[in-house]
Amino acid sequence: MPKIQQLSPSVVNKIAAGEVIERPASAVKELMENSLDAGSTRVDVTIEHGGTELIRIADNGCGIAPEDMPLTIASHATSKIRSAEELFHVHTLGFRGEALASISEVSQFLLRSRPHDADCGNEMLVHGGSVQEAQPCGCPPGTIIEIRNLFFNTPVRKKFLKTTQTEFGHISEAFTRIALAHPDVHFTLKHGARLVHDLPPSADLRERVRVFFGAEIADQLIDVESSNDQVTLRGFVGNPRFSRSNNRMQYLFLNGRYIKDRALQHALGEAYRGLLLHGRYPIAFLRMQMPPEMVDVNVHPTKLEVRFQDSGRIYSQLLGTLRQKFLATDLTSTYRPAEDADANSSSGDAQSADALRQELVAWAKGAVPGSSSETESQPSRQTDLDLDFRSDQRAPLQLNPINRSAVGAGSLPLPPIPSGLPRGTSQGQPLPDAQQPPLSPETDFDPAMSPQPSSTGSLHRAIQLHNRYLITETDEGMAVIDQHALHERILYEELREKALARRLEVQRLLVPETLNLSAQEFAAVAAATETLAQIGIEVEAFGGDTILIRSYPAILGRRKPAEILREIIDQLLTEGKNLEKRDLLDELLHMMSCKAAIKAGDRLSREEIDALLDLRHLCQDAHHCPHGRPTSLVFTKEELDRRFQRT
Ligand code: ADP
Ligand code: MG
Repeated sequence: MPKIQQLSPSVVNKIAAGEVIERPASAVKELMENSLDAGSTRVDVTIEHGGTELIRIADNGCGIAPEDMPLTIASHATSKIRSAEELFHVHTLGFRGEALASISEVSQFLLRSRPHDADCGNEMLVHGGSVQEAQPCGCPPGTIIEIRNLFFNTPVRKKFLKTTQTEFGHISEAFTRIALAHPDVHFTLKHGARLVHDLPPSADLRERVRVFFGAEIADQLIDVESSNDQVTLRGFVGNPRFSRSNNRMQYLFLNGRYIKDRALQHALGEAYRGLLLHGRYPIAFLRMQMPPEMVDVNVHPTKLEVRFQDSGRIYSQLLGTLRQKFLATDLTSTYRPAEDADANSSSGDAQSADALRQELVAWAKGAVPGSSSETESQPSRQTDLDLDFRSDQRAPLQLNPINRSAVGAGSLPLPPIPSGLPRGTSQGQPLPDAQQPPLSPETDFDPAMSPQPSSTGSLHRAIQLHNRYLITETDEGMAVIDQHALHERILYEELREKALARRLEVQRLLVPETLNLSAQEFAAVAAATETLAQIGIEVEAFGGDTILIRSYPAILGRRKPAEILREIIDQLLTEGKNLEKRDLLDELLHMMSCKAAIKAGDRLSREEIDALLDLRHLCQDAHHCPHGRPTSLVFTKEELDRRFQRT
């Protein structure tokens, strides 16, 4: 029988460290929070090698009395609460008294501090949990903490650390969250010799958003504000035109603390219902203040999640505030046509700006249930075109979107598309006239397009229904084809073949485009550079977190390179992280083929329909689109006979 033992405090701390300190970014978060709890107005963060070599946080807060210094690294020692009762009135970011104990257990830790009324400071050196040295020293009022060689005595943890860039990406995200929650505090962030951020205090959260996410995002934000006797909600939400493919740009702060909360995220989604396509998420920077007794912050070791006393009420307040705001008539004032025109690098003509403004008002009105059914059905109908983008004005379909030149082939092992017939094996049929006009928009059914009876049983011309399905006769009976799914499958196979052979057509940019990224995004791109090159996107670091785009896949020629890369980055951050290189390539190829394929809703000309059906035989799995949905449904003659009770 194994013997039961009481673990030593050192082991207990190491276990706690595993919970609180997962990586350098967690230590940065804890230390910055301590600085804010100490009432600092300035906090300087210095990082070496993604925080694995050094994390140094210096503040001008209240400092620590010399006799209290050893207590800072004792577990469950805190100046922030005294009793269990106070757990429900926490006014500070920290209260568990665990962070410094955990950190000093797994690093070489130096604490230097001087209260404002003291003549000199004191320093304490801790190595893997044991105090090595404590003595007076000279230092400015406030506290400096240095953490060197994090996880030096927990090799398993250390092994899990990622590249310098990735770890710094996490640190930068932690820094961003805290700096956004406290715009009135001066923060700086240095990585090695590089000053990444210097953020003077500002009364306006929008200024901080501008620094972190650029003017394009900051200038389109819509102010929101509401308060009742207990809860104040203040901040910004994004115009639906700037949605994202994940919810990482939803920054929610509660009493100065960044939180993740499913209910509030859901309320955001609800407020934008009908304004965003399926799978798109709004941008938000929202700060909430409420009495500490209305929320339990002691439910998560890193305090990322909280429990509201009355979450339904907060949910309704957020949803109601946003809906009201979207309805407000002065909504257009948040929209700045001149800047927006710049951002879209369009000519900035007044007419299109006007049209956009009207569109904005229209979506605002459609946002609330019970408004006119037309305005409401408009956006929701658009959501059917999943994976298409609202802002993506589709150019009129080229004569033949699956023409070889459109997919940029040339060296493809597939035979060229015949300009007319023969289709299948039937020789005796009349060739369709290549000059035939496209289907007239008024008729969904053209008698000339009806399937021809065939003795050979090969594929025949199809008719298009509802601008999304093709119906055709087959050997066995009849097939209903999803035009988008089939085209996507065809493109996917073609792209995959070329990408693997590194023969994908790329469009080189005469003038490379620049793109500003967050440190985390930058790290994601850096990690995927090789795979990106394989699909034709060549990128290069360009100082800071800016990258240069030198080329992009020709097949996505209708879209802006920066926009394509943004989509991909979103994807990398949501799904790419855990993917093997091969799977990532596959994922990106799926995405490209989906974007380049004809959409549900596209009216196809007769040639386009014919060409699509021709190519159908050329893909290995014509029955499923790359997402695994069926591309066609087959009804056998027997089944039709049975349904019509002929048998
Ligand atoms: P907690 O923040 O939960 O109290 P920590 O382990 O993070 O626990 O810190 C322990 C104590 O050390 C704090 O309660 C605080 O009194 C003191 N302390 C830590 N960092 C600072 C700082 N930057 N300035 C002043 N006091 C600090
Ligand atoms: Mg703390």
